[in-house]
Amino acid sequence: MVEPLLLGAIEAGGTKFLCAIADRDGTPLMQTRIPTTTPDETLGAASAFFAEAARRHGTLAAFSIGSFGPLSLNRVAADYGCITSTPKAGWQNVDLLAHFGRTIAAPTALDTDVNCAAVGERLFGSGQGLDTFCYVTVGTGIGVGVLINGAPHGGANHPEAGHITLPRAPGDDRFAGICPYHGDCLEGLACGPAMHARWGVPAETLPGDHPAWDLEADYLAGLCATLTYTVRPDRIIIGGGVMQPLMYDRVRRALTAKLAGYDASMRTIDMANYVAAPTAGSSAGLTGALALAYRTATRQWPTHWTITETTSIEADAVNA
Ligand code: ZN
Repeated sequence: MVEPLLLGAIEAGGTKFLCAIADRDGTPLMQTRIPTTTPDETLGAASAFFAEAARRHGTLAAFSIGSFGPLSLNRVAADYGCITSTPKAGWQNVDLLAHFGRTIAAPTALDTDVNCAAVGERLFGSGQGLDTFCYVTVGTGIGVGVLINGAPHGGANHPEAGHITLPRAPGDDRFAGICPYHGDCLEGLACGPAMHARWGVPAETLPGDHPAWDLEADYLAGLCATLTYTVRPDRIIIGGGVMQPLMYDRVRRALTAKLAGYDASMRTIDMANYVAAPTAGSSAGLTGALALAYRTATRQWPTHWTITETTSIEADAVNA
């Protein structure tokens, strides 16, 4: 008989926490969605969910959190496990690992929401069969997850590629940008709230022929060029609420122009496959976090999981 392997995970977002427990096959056994309000309220409700899950299903073998950030992922840092300098009110310096460590004894993994989404895309989506790729989300912020040789890239801490500084697009010299730290970094110029601030209306209400989209494509192509030169991924998956279908071809064209024919290996990039939409479903982040828990328990990725078993998790609940 196969031993039970109970996995717990949270996708911690700025508007909601998705919590789930699943078995060794990734089949969800319990799940809930908790609004992100104050840390006390939200973390308290999440702990109560996992306490109830333990009463019903037993002790977790491993637990994982994929969270919005910035996070401290450096194990030797004093603030390891904390959300650090987030602009989200009340959530600065919230110690996620300490909070859940008080009630969950299982080995625990912590990574960024975008790295977890990248893991989900590798298992079930546009990252299948790829070892090194980037996952970009363009929504309330711009986040970049990086998988290198099949594992989320960490290093001294997680990358913050959404905050790179790019050359201004031609003619775009008036808008100051909205990043509270950098002003006109990429996120400050091109995240959803930046588009709203720039054009006076929410991005999703702008018509397809509005100049906003070419400008947006220019900045995202700048990010893709930077990722191409630094990471040289097999693919760049771009999702999030701002990424309407019309954007992909514009980003591909702008990226081709920015790479400017440099290096034979870049000239032969198949742009239609290189810049891709996510396809693992809206629960990729939570699924990826569960997969991280699985790896924490077994030291292997759950390559036997199937999408039909895992996509039932709050399929409509996540928007980046
Ligand atoms: Zn910034």
